[in-house]
Amino acid sequence: MSGSTIRTRFAPSPTGALHLGGTRTALYNWLYARHCGGDFILRIEDTDRERSKEEHCQQIMSMLRWVGMDWDGEVVYQSQRSQRHQEIIQKLLDQGDAYYCDCSPERLEQLRKEQMAAKLKPRYDRHCRDRDNPPSAQSVVRFKTPLEGDVVIQDSLKGEVRFSNSELDDLVIARADGSATYHLAVVVDDMDAGVTHIIRGDDHLNNTPRQVNILSALGADVPSYTHLPMILDESGRKMSKRKDSADMAQYREQGYLPTALANILVRLGWAHGDDELFSVEELIQQFDLSGLNPAASRIDPKKMAWVNQQQMSRVSESEINAEFDWHSARQDLDPDVLSKPDRAALIEVQRKRCRTVTDMVAQSRWLLLEDPGTDESAREKFLTPESRSILQELADEMEQVDWNVESLKGLVDAACERHQVKPGKVAQPLRVAVTGGTVSPSIEDTLVLLGRERALRRLRSAISGA
Ligand code: GLU
Repeated sequence: MSGSTIRTRFAPSPTGALHLGGTRTALYNWLYARHCGGDFILRIEDTDRERSKEEHCQQIMSMLRWVGMDWDGEVVYQSQRSQRHQEIIQKLLDQGDAYYCDCSPERLEQLRKEQMAAKLKPRYDRHCRDRDNPPSAQSVVRFKTPLEGDVVIQDSLKGEVRFSNSELDDLVIARADGSATYHLAVVVDDMDAGVTHIIRGDDHLNNTPRQVNILSALGADVPSYTHLPMILDESGRKMSKRKDSADMAQYREQGYLPTALANILVRLGWAHGDDELFSVEELIQQFDLSGLNPAASRIDPKKMAWVNQQQMSRVSESEINAEFDWHSARQDLDPDVLSKPDRAALIEVQRKRCRTVTDMVAQSRWLLLEDPGTDESAREKFLTPESRSILQELADEMEQVDWNVESLKGLVDAACERHQVKPGKVAQPLRVAVTGGTVSPSIEDTLVLLGRERALRRLRSAISGA
């Protein structure tokens, strides 16, 4: 592993679905690695066998991919590294940096109660530290935290953070069943992978001095740390993992584009001047840790919707196509009924006027279904005897013209002039006649997308009241 390569990682515990905060953490790590030409590693921290679920692993990976992230090398499953963890636990025992502790749960509970009663911070009293206990089926392994001195962390966002060793516990690094705890596993895995930069939520800040002490005992390099402030919900409260707005899957369901979501997440805690809209390539080019904001950021649903709407007309055709397919399937529609050029034409028109992909598909039913049906109230309101007679004239004229935007618009405009009515008086009945509803692209775009044959068939049947 070359010493100069920047290597970051995302290390989720698959005990639940990926949420906004986790996705942002992953994105910062990914962007930083890509920006520096380094590596980004995905490590699934699945050592909690009870709560870790395969379905969560799958959801996490598919969400990361959906937002546009990829990772270098194979996914690392922490549970498969237990032998290596054991080796390191043994090494720490052998070099005198760890010891077996056989204090009973009752003793620890009693100690905790006494410390609480004396208004002391509850922590292990190092009873077994110098007893040279042999291993036993009940004993755990504890790390010998240095008794004196400070751990000083140069956090790239929080600046210098100092922890006094005297405040830290002799933490458990191996449980009675021999399995490694989180602190030991995370340190060993980061060390072995050559992780150079750890970017994670500031809920981990208090873990960092413990992990740095273990790294130092192992003679390993200490990575650079960045602890990110939390994301607040719209009312300024800490986002809860259980709250709806934190769940990532819903944003796709609501019709957000992957690029929009990446854009929104990155901006929750990072800025590049006053820029608001970024493509993923621009983010890779511009993302740097110096643009991170030390203050917590708040979710702003209006801004999220705006970013998505802006990205609707900016993202690549392949991105919008993929989302169009996904939403069509969810809405029981089949976009393959359209020829490639027709589909491209539909998307070109719709992406400029729709705020979300969900809307875009819902507002394309009239084209994707052979018989989209007619909204009864629209029929009553717009297909009056007067409008039908105008539609009749138009239908006859439409038989004759070239089927393109200019000539169709010309016909509609001429009908308005002839009957001295506003454009809506012609366009809206025509729209209801050919789409069955009141919402569609401009009337000429709608007609062109439908094609002459289908448009006229629907128009004639609406005129005749069928
Ligand atoms: N697995 C930990 C979590 O999901 C993250 C560990 C880390 O980033 O150091 O919170």
